[in-house]
Amino acid sequence: MTAKIYYDNDADLSLLKDKTIAILGYGSQGHAQAQNLRDSGCNVIVGQRPGSANYDLAVQHGFEPLPIDEATSRGDLVNMLLPDEVQSDIYHSQIRENLEPGNILMCSHGFNIHFGQIAPPEGVDALLVAPKGPGHLVRSEYEKGGGVPALIAMSEGASEETKQLGLAYAKGIGGTRGGVIETTIAEETETDLFGEQVVLCGGVSELVKAAFEVLVEAGYQPEMAYFECLHELKLIVDLFYEGGLSYMRYSVSNTAEYGDYSRGPRIITDETRVEMRKILLEIQNGDFAREWILENKAGAPGFLARRRRDRNLQIEQVGQRLRSLMTWIDAKNV
Ligand code: NDP
Ligand code: MG
Repeated sequence: MTAKIYYDNDADLSLLKDKTIAILGYGSQGHAQAQNLRDSGCNVIVGQRPGSANYDLAVQHGFEPLPIDEATSRGDLVNMLLPDEVQSDIYHSQIRENLEPGNILMCSHGFNIHFGQIAPPEGVDALLVAPKGPGHLVRSEYEKGGGVPALIAMSEGASEETKQLGLAYAKGIGGTRGGVIETTIAEETETDLFGEQVVLCGGVSELVKAAFEVLVEAGYQPEMAYFECLHELKLIVDLFYEGGLSYMRYSVSNTAEYGDYSRGPRIITDETRVEMRKILLEIQNGDFAREWILENKAGAPGFLARRRRDRNLQIEQVGQRLRSLMTWIDAKNV
């Protein structure tokens, strides 16, 4: 099954002419989507709580941020660009009662809708338009005349009009310049969680940490271990990004390529695949969602403890020092 992909000619921006788009949250996605839509000629209002840097940024960008409930009442399309773990509380206290039949409730990640934390009221369709990249890229690519690819999905039973408005919205943020893939809220949510847990965040971090620790335990200098196991990963990922596995293998030495074929499968084994399938099942059956929702209800003690512990790892200390010496890196410290 190949995906249905929409481009600029498949979307009609004029459908949004008489609509007001309320962007709730002016963070990574909010600031990018709001500005791109405005530059595309759409009527955009911003709902953002006062007292934060994001509020000031919205003002600096020429918006007049409203309280979330007010922005919701004024919006025809209402996009929740708020952190996933606070969306449900904000939805029930400030959004739900201000939605009217015919409005469209939007998001850029389906977690809360798919796992039943947010159920749009009668007459309100749910619509997901999710850029496949961070907000700063969504903005900078749009400004260059390009666009980050995006996903589109609707709640079951959503109208054809909702889909057309979704495609127009995707065009407004630049998504149809890169291609907009049609998916379902379930597929977007489940694959997004799987990717971040198994590869992008969980898998890669643990791989890097473990390899660093093995080298240091064996008596190698931590600085060497840092360069080999973390720093150089970027060079490899850039090659993947430009030309897939084959291009990476074409670019590295034959020795590295032989090591890849002969040793890689000993690191990612059948046992790893079994665990990957278990993780996928926990996502599909809601176990992961329940765990994360309850963790947040309890004030996220386990999450915060893990964050504290990992910030003090040796690889983090060594890396911070080395990065500060590499002047071409825009070094960041959290
Ligand atoms: P950010 O954390 O960057 O921004 C969150 C926004 O919500 C900020 O404006 C923040 O305001 C506001 N906010 C946070 N907590 C509260 C609260 N308790 N009450 C009121 N406002 C609050 O979020 P993202 O842009 O990263 O994520 C938004 C959505 O986009 C999520 O669903 C995410 O999954 C999705 N997404 C994100 C991507 C990314 O790369 N970042 C990529 C694709 C999808 P304040 O400054 O006042 O805290
Ligand atoms: Mg993702």
